[in-house]
Amino acid sequence: MKITVAKSAGFCFGVKRAIDIALASAARSKDRVYMLGDIVHNENVVKNIERAGIKKTGKLNNPRIGSLLIRAHGSSKKILQKAEKLGLKIIDATCPMVKEIHKIAIDMDRRGYKIIVIGDYKHDEVQGIVGQIKHKAIVLQGLADIKKKIAKRIEKGAVVVQSTQNLEKVLKMQEALRERIDDLQFFNTICSPTRLKQAEIKTLPKASDCIIIIGSKTSANTKRLYQIARAINKNSYWINSPDELKKKWFRRVKSVGITAGASTPDETIHAIKEHIRKITV
Ligand code: SF4
Repeated sequence: MKITVAKSAGFCFGVKRAIDIALASAARSKDRVYMLGDIVHNENVVKNIERAGIKKTGKLNNPRIGSLLIRAHGSSKKILQKAEKLGLKIIDATCPMVKEIHKIAIDMDRRGYKIIVIGDYKHDEVQGIVGQIKHKAIVLQGLADIKKKIAKRIEKGAVVVQSTQNLEKVLKMQEALRERIDDLQFFNTICSPTRLKQAEIKTLPKASDCIIIIGSKTSANTKRLYQIARAINKNSYWINSPDELKKKWFRRVKSVGITAGASTPDETIHAIKEHIRKITV
């Protein structure tokens, strides 16, 4: 059976960088390093980082925290200011591409534009973006939100996009927004690794009988890859470990395509590929 792993499968540049920063800070720091929530959305990566000595916390006013590690998706200004007030040392692992979104939002907000974020309401990255600016932003998760949340015409609006959104959906929303905003400044901030992954997952399901998408169920970008794959090939499955594979998925299958979300380690991809070989001989 032919197994093809997408070239873009697995860690993106921002996740790799965040993990390197985390491990280097754990090795160097004499302080107790804590991360607020998960550094990236992958249980295995979080476990490895915890093993290196970095602990997870839900609250900033935990007296044990010495240094605070900011995750790849970034954080709101409020959290950073509170951490500084508490005297915590900040180790910033925010992806530079997310920082770029923050810069645009801050600049356009200052210039009097209503900030509109296309993204998942509760996602850390979206919370981090809306938490950068002085005025309240509008968050739009899908096309249906436009009517609901933009009842009156907006004179000046600036749109930024969560880095891992689905490009096709975002382009449709851009068109719909044009009808409601007089001066629309649209910044398509979907990051380059996400664009590459989405481009590959549009061809892989056509060329393969079965598609395996690897990544945590908490990973928004993996979910998006799965949705795109499934719309093209019904024989698409989303898993996070080899033991979730089912033999019946590979009946009469001659070719399997594999891709993985931005926070999936290479070891997991490799283990799943090997397990597919094992159960299909
Ligand atoms: S998905 Fe894109 S924005 Fe997010 S961490 Fe990776 S490179 Fe950065």
